[in-house]
Amino acid sequence: MIPYFVDPCYRPPHFDPFNGKFYDVRDATNPGQNLMINPFETEERAAFRSTLQSFVESEIKPFADGWDEAAAIPWELHQKIGALGVWGFGIDERYGGLGFDDCFMRAAYNEELAKCGANGVPAALNGRMISLEPIQRLANEDIKDRALADIVAGRKGSSLGITEPGGGSDVANLTTKAVKDGNHYVIDGSKTFITGGMNADYFVIGARTGDAGWGGISLFFVDADTEGFSRTPLDRKMGWWCSDQATLYFEDCRVPATNLMGEENGGFLAIMENFNLERVALIAGMLGMMKVCLEESIAWAQERETFGKPMIKHQVIRHKIADMSAKTDAVEALLNHICWAVNNGDIPVAEICKAKFFTSKALEFCASEAMQIFGGAGYLRGNLVERIYREVKVMAIGGGSEEIMRDLAVRQMGL
Ligand SMILES: Cc1cc2nc3c(=O)[nH]c(=O)nc-3n(C[C@H](O)[C@H](O)[C@H](O)COP(=O)(O)OP(=O)(O)OC[C@H]3O[C@@H](n4cnc5c(N)ncnc54)[C@H](O)[C@@H]3O)c2cc1C
Repeated sequence: MIPYFVDPCYRPPHFDPFNGKFYDVRDATNPGQNLMINPFETEERAAFRSTLQSFVESEIKPFADGWDEAAAIPWELHQKIGALGVWGFGIDERYGGLGFDDCFMRAAYNEELAKCGANGVPAALNGRMISLEPIQRLANEDIKDRALADIVAGRKGSSLGITEPGGGSDVANLTTKAVKDGNHYVIDGSKTFITGGMNADYFVIGARTGDAGWGGISLFFVDADTEGFSRTPLDRKMGWWCSDQATLYFEDCRVPATNLMGEENGGFLAIMENFNLERVALIAGMLGMMKVCLEESIAWAQERETFGKPMIKHQVIRHKIADMSAKTDAVEALLNHICWAVNNGDIPVAEICKAKFFTSKALEFCASEAMQIFGGAGYLRGNLVERIYREVKVMAIGGGSEEIMRDLAVRQMGL
């Protein structure tokens, strides 16, 4: 081995706990590789990630661009990827789940899927992800028996409807109403931006059953074929073209009283709790997007020559790569720490909020620098970096905007 003072790429060997040997982590064929070691890695997690990588490489990447342009993914993809167990975390085996949870595997799923480079694909697939946890935890047995296994397997879709045309950040003041009438609740109002909403068979909806403010909100399970329910697609989006977002309308929509999920007027806390894992998934997805920006930039800067040498030899470009790589490492370390805390039974709300806005800012930086490195070529459709640049903002707004994340983080810090 060449000593570090001669070879600038020298990395000391790392200890591999699986086979008890030291190994050289440097892959000479991939000099820009991210070398962060996850101290919490296990054989099972590595195998799960590797299965996903192969799946994304063969089943998604070659088609993602075409799907995005066509504004849809094939439904079979839901079932194919569902068969890998990606929606089974935290779900009982009797409902088709895995019977265990692991935040690292959840994160690996979202990171690897995002690496397909068209984030409409994860959005189209994962509309169901944010409604699964409330259904498993709060829906009655009858609903779970008839719906959960199909959702987990990707045979049917489900969506979470919180945001309304009047606003999304101020969840405590949502206005869709649900009024008790005998053995039913009658829902009136509308929801918008609902991911997966055009294809979903089931919805988890936040509606007001009580007084103004956070203490008057409940969650309801609504079948898409309920009378009084209708939907229209949200078109002409900046990104996420191959995913479906819908505006939902509830007009005298009667659902059985047993479709109330959890306690009446206890919905706000359930919504807030559900946001935590959604945000971890978004952070992991953004990490995948940042890695794509970094890898694409390195490959381009090595290949393209300006002023008589490869761009990677110009110091300004090298510094861009260093900054992108440092931010990517920081997000990865933060995410691993959060996953470790979640696996240990903690819900580190402040850290999740800080990581969410820190990561969307880091992604914004990486996407912008990657576009700059590509020059005019980055401005053309079909370039992964061009698409990621367009898909930054939804990550900075959806699932809790940067402003709301900062606010919540500071409140969680007791200030
Ligand atoms: C593509 C996409 C998919 C989505 N999918 C879903 C889904 O599946 N289900 C769902 O329920 N929702 C979904 N959303 C909605 C998303 O969660 C909301 O857009 C988000 O919560 C912000 O709400 P809003 O758009 O109504 O913005 P508003 O709440 O109107 O806020 C507008 C801006 O003002 C800022 N702001 C608001 N209040 C304050 C304050 N007090 N201080 C400082 N700044 C403030 C916000 O940060 C934001 O930047 C999706 C959104 C998009 C774009």
